Amino acid sequence: MALTFRGGLVMNEHKNTHGVQIERMPSPEKVVIPMSQHIGAPASPVVKAGDIVARGQIIGEIKGGLGCPVHASVSGRVKAISQIMLPTGRQSQAVEIESDGLDTDYEGLMPFSKRLGEATSEEIIDIVRAAGISGMGGATFPAYAKIQSAIGKAERLIVNCAECEPYITANHRLLLEDPAAVVNGAKILLKALSLRHADIAVTDNKMDAVRRLDKMLKGSELFEVTVLKTKYPQGDERQLILAITKQELPAGKLPADVGCVIFNAETCAAIFKAFQTGMPLIERIVTVDGDCVKTPKNVRVPIGTSFGDVLEYCGGTKKRISRLISGGPMMGTAVWDLSSPVMKGTSGILAFSDRAVRPYDQAPACIHCGRCLSVCPMHLMPTALASYSKIGRYDICAEYDAMSCVECGSCAYVCPGAVPITSYIRVAKDNLRAKAAAEKAAAEREKAVMAERQAAESRSESDKDKKEGKEGEK
Ligand code: SF4
Ligand code: SF4
Repeated sequence: MALTFRGGLVMNEHKNTHGVQIERMPSPEKVVIPMSQHIGAPASPVVKAGDIVARGQIIGEIKGGLGCPVHASVSGRVKAISQIMLPTGRQSQAVEIESDGLDTDYEGLMPFSKRLGEATSEEIIDIVRAAGISGMGGATFPAYAKIQSAIGKAERLIVNCAECEPYITANHRLLLEDPAAVVNGAKILLKALSLRHADIAVTDNKMDAVRRLDKMLKGSELFEVTVLKTKYPQGDERQLILAITKQELPAGKLPADVGCVIFNAETCAAIFKAFQTGMPLIERIVTVDGDCVKTPKNVRVPIGTSFGDVLEYCGGTKKRISRLISGGPMMGTAVWDLSSPVMKGTSGILAFSDRAVRPYDQAPACIHCGRCLSVCPMHLMPTALASYSKIGRYDICAEYDAMSCVECGSCAYVCPGAVPITSYIRVAKDNLRAKAAAEKAAAEREKAVMAERQAAESRSESDKDKKEGKEGEK
């Protein structure tokens, strides 16, 4: 029987592209590659305008701390280094490269020279770090740091192939077309983590992929293909752990705290590619769909390609775009500019006309139907959280455990009163985070003042002792 969790939504999946083979998009005329595509510090450009670069060459490096280096996704000439607005709304430095159309690979790229059995955890971590691999399911946490933090804590690796967002089929196609890349990437992770078991977690709307994996892994002691019920948000780490291990992941804790570590299927494939060829993360699979798109597709896209160029590759648009989304419709972000670049975490580009999106003109009003409570996978009280956030009572939102909200959007999706519940909760969470940061800063300032006062007191004590000592000598 397919495993699942309590709550969540069974929704129209719109997986229109599940049968469409992945196509590799030719290099566009230019790419604009952001230095900030991951959680942690942005990379600093190590190239300048006029430099000639090749595919896979480093163009941004991390100067200490958490983060991922960034590499050229096309060969050509660096045109400019500029400041751009990311689809997330944040500003980032970006390296613009004019493609020479030759797709020349950087000559310094080398496959890993040892057999996997001889590799150490440190060597694997170094390769993953140098390849600039961050989580490709959307969270964009640096993969090397996830491995590091899970060593000695995680007892079980879970390969996340749930892909529960409507429309998105990139992982599904990857499992059908290149399951070996995912499995081999997971083997590398098992070796780095010194583990002997991985669950490949696939939802039951991808039974063709399950059969493929079952056939490939027949008799394997390392892998188990775990079938999950198709429900939203099954791909969320908390729901994945709950469905597979029956353990709740408390708010503020990491999967490793309950013995699990989770990697997305495409992240595993990127790790394998870095080992096999030395090529860092410079492209990703993007599902392009929505009622405006002429030919919905799964496309392997060079990082830094504009959304507009990807849409053009899919035949262009047939209607006026009313809503452009980066990622899935539930947790993705609205994008206002077709020049926005594809980044390491961009799983989808969805373009909808105004016929396909809910109009904003309905005045939001709660009719106390309770639907939001029944779907919340975190068992929160979304209606109460939204109401208190609306009147600025973030303290009460904290009491109602707002910080445990995973912002899956299920509550807002089912709400017949069109209450933007998730947006209200996001505002409450932002305010609570800001308050916690201000309190922490104030406590640190207080600590510094106390330390300075104590140091001044001990200096004056010591001056006094010296003075008394001198007077005694006299
Ligand atoms: S789903 Fe909407 S209308 Fe129903 S209780 Fe929740 S907020 Fe109110
Ligand atoms: S309250 Fe948060 S976790 Fe619960 S359904 Fe709404 S968005 Fe999802």
